[in-house]
Amino acid sequence: MKKYEMLINGKWVKAKSGKTREIIDPGNGEVLAVVQEGGKEDAIAAIEAARAAFDHGPWRKTMAIDRGKLLFKLGDALRAKAKEMAELETRNNGKPLAEAEFDVADAANCFEFYGGLATKIHGETMSVPANSLSFVVREPIGVCTQIIPWNFPLLMAAWKLAPALAAGNTLVLKPSEFTPLTALELAKMCEEVGFPAGVVNVITGPGAGCGEEMAVNHKVDKVAFTGGTATGRRIAIAATENLKRVTLELGGKNPNIVFADADFESAVDGALFGAFANQGEVCSAGSRLLVERSIHKPLVEAILKKIPNIKLGHGLGAGVKMGPLVSKAHREKVESYIEIGKKEGKLLCGGKRPSGAQFEKGWFLEPTIFDDVKPTARIAKEEIFGPVLTIIPFDTEEEAIRIANDTEYGLAAGVWSKNIQKALRVVREIRAGITWINHYHPTFNEMPWGGYKQSGTGRELGLHGIEGYLEIKQINVNLDEAPIGWY
Ligand code: NDP
Repeated sequence: MKKYEMLINGKWVKAKSGKTREIIDPGNGEVLAVVQEGGKEDAIAAIEAARAAFDHGPWRKTMAIDRGKLLFKLGDALRAKAKEMAELETRNNGKPLAEAEFDVADAANCFEFYGGLATKIHGETMSVPANSLSFVVREPIGVCTQIIPWNFPLLMAAWKLAPALAAGNTLVLKPSEFTPLTALELAKMCEEVGFPAGVVNVITGPGAGCGEEMAVNHKVDKVAFTGGTATGRRIAIAATENLKRVTLELGGKNPNIVFADADFESAVDGALFGAFANQGEVCSAGSRLLVERSIHKPLVEAILKKIPNIKLGHGLGAGVKMGPLVSKAHREKVESYIEIGKKEGKLLCGGKRPSGAQFEKGWFLEPTIFDDVKPTARIAKEEIFGPVLTIIPFDTEEEAIRIANDTEYGLAAGVWSKNIQKALRVVREIRAGITWINHYHPTFNEMPWGGYKQSGTGRELGLHGIEGYLEIKQINVNLDEAPIGWY
C-alpha cells in the first residue's frame, strides 16, 4: 500500500495530528493509498513556509527566464510519467482512461504555456510631465493558497500552480480529500525539477480545518478556489478578513442551445458530450439542453439512440466511456436530484444504478435524461454535477436567450446553428464567461476561463490568468534635482 506524506518547506512530513485517510478507487471500492489527514496546524505550517520562502528566499528574485525553465521541466517530468499519471488519475477519480490521458497532456501544456509566459510579464510607461518618469512594474502577489476539487484533480492543480509560479509567487495547494494522489505525485516532480524549498507546498486534508485556514490566515495574500458555489461563498467571506485577493471558479447550470438550422448530427454529439463527458462532473457541463421545438422530437430520438454507446465501467476498462461518480455521498446527492426530476419532468433513460457484478462495488450511475422540463424546475436550476441532462423545448430565439439567462450562474453556454449571425447574436446576449458555437467543451490554456454572476470572480488561464497572480506597482522618478520649494 502506497503511503504519502505532505510537502512542506521542501520536506515530506506527516500530519501533526498523526491522522491518516484511506483513498478509495470509486470504480471498485479498493483502497489505493493512504495519505495524511492534515488539519489547521499543518495548513499554518505550510503557509509559514510559503511566507518565509517568499519574503526571504531566492524565488521572488529568480529571473523570469529561470522560472519559466523550471515550468518547462515540470511539463517534461509530467510527460515522462504520462501513462502512470493518467492511470492514477483514473483510479482515484473514476474518469475513463482516455479522458485522464487528455488531462495529463493538457496539464503539461499548461505548464509549458505559462513557462513561456513568465518572460512576457512586463511593465509599461505613459507620458507624464516632462520632469517625471513614471512606469509600471508587475510583481508577484506573495503567498497564494490554492484549493481544488475532485473532478479534474491534476488539471486543476496545473491551472493553479503554473500561473502562480510563472509570476514568482509561493504557494500552498490543497487537493480534494477524495482525490489527492496526482497532486502529490506532481509535488514530487516539483521537488525533483528543483523549485526551491517552500515555494511549492502541497498539503492534504479536509476543507473543514485545513481548507478553512487557507482562506482565513492573514499571512496569505491570495486565495484561489475551484469548486462549488456554496463553498466559494464561504471562502470569499473568510478571505475578506485581511482583504486577500480572491479568484473563484465555481459552478454552472449551463445552457446548450440547439436551433432547428443546426447541423443535426453534430448537435446530437455535442449535446451528449456536453452533458456526459467526465460523468457530467464538470462545472461547464451543458446540463440544460434547450431545443427548438420543431426538431425536439427527432433530436431527442437521435440522442436516445446513442445512449447505449456510452459504455459504463471502471475507467481502466476497454472502451469505457463513463466511469463511476467520485464518491458514495456524491452519487447519493445526484440520485436525490433524480428523484426530484421524476416529479418535474419525463424520465427518458437512466435514473438508476447499472446492474451487474462489475458495478456492485463502485459508485456507478446510468446516464440520465429528463425531457419536457420547465425552466423553473429545480433540476433545471440547480447544479447536479452528475450524468443528468434536462431537456427544455423553446419556440423563438428570444425565448431561448431568456431561458438561458434565467439562472444564478453564468459560466458557460453552447449554441448550435449554421446561421453564424444568429449564433453570434445569441452568444452576445448570453451572460456567461465561456461560450462555444457549434462545439462544446474544448478548453484552451491560451484562453481565459471563468464565469459571470455566481459562477465566480476572476479568470484563470490565458494572459488574463497570470494577471490574477500579479500586483501592479507604479514607480515615479523626479527628473529635477532641485527641491520642490513648496514650503
Ligand atoms: P467543494 O466545493 O465543497 O470542495 C472543493 C474544495 O474545497 C475541496 O478541496 C474541499 O475540501 C474544499 N473545501 C470545502 N469546504 C471548504 C471550506 N469551508 N474552506 C476551504 N476549503 C473548503 O466540493 P464538494 O466535494 O463538497 O462538492 C459539492 C458540490 O460542489 C458538488 O456537488 C458540485 O455541485 C459542486 N462542485 C463544483 C465544482 C466545480 O468545478 N464547479 C467542483 C466540485 C464540486 P475537501 O473536499 O477536501 O473537504
